[in-house]
Amino acid sequence: MGKRYYCDYCDRSFQDNMHNRKKHLNGVQHHRAKKAWFHNFRDAAAILAEEQTKKPCRKFLQTGQCGFGSSCRFSHMTEKDLANLEQHIEDERRRKEGPVEQGVAPERSVDDWLSRREKRRAALDSGREPEEEEEEESPQHLDVPPHLLSIPDLPPSLLPPPPTGWNQVPRTEWG
Ligand SMILES: [Zn+2]
Ligand SMILES: [Zn+2]
Repeated sequence: MGKRYYCDYCDRSFQDNMHNRKKHLNGVQHHRAKKAWFHNFRDAAAILAEEQTKKPCRKFLQTGQCGFGSSCRFSHMTEKDLANLEQHIEDERRRKEGPVEQGVAPERSVDDWLSRREKRRAALDSGREPEEEEEEESPQHLDVPPHLLSIPDLPPSLLPPPPTGWNQVPRTEWG
């Protein structure tokens, strides 16, 4: 038994030889499957835009069936499908650019942190008291990104200190 060729688009396999491959790749069924595959993975917005330019497929909308499948030049989407798709696109868009979930502090960037540290150092070097803003830099206001706090089983070295500070470790003599 020779090698088998598996076609992802059609989800079927056959004995791999020139003749079978050529026959399969040129077959109507394969073309249809390939088109449907790309259709499914295309950007939702592109699908919506295209569907909106098509006329509804009467046959499909009345009987739920249409021999042309996804290669039909009429739209197989109902008003409701289109509305759902539109909603989906809207949700995706909001998720991408919208603010982080309510209640969660906006993430602070490392650059931000570094520049504030630089300022604080400069203030200390010049003997001045740190500015008001820096005073609130108590252990309760650690700059730990919220998503890190929710990772279970962090090694102790990566855990934030408890609000009360670390317990004093007893001095151990070595040797
Ligand atoms: Zn195929
Ligand atoms: Zn149709």
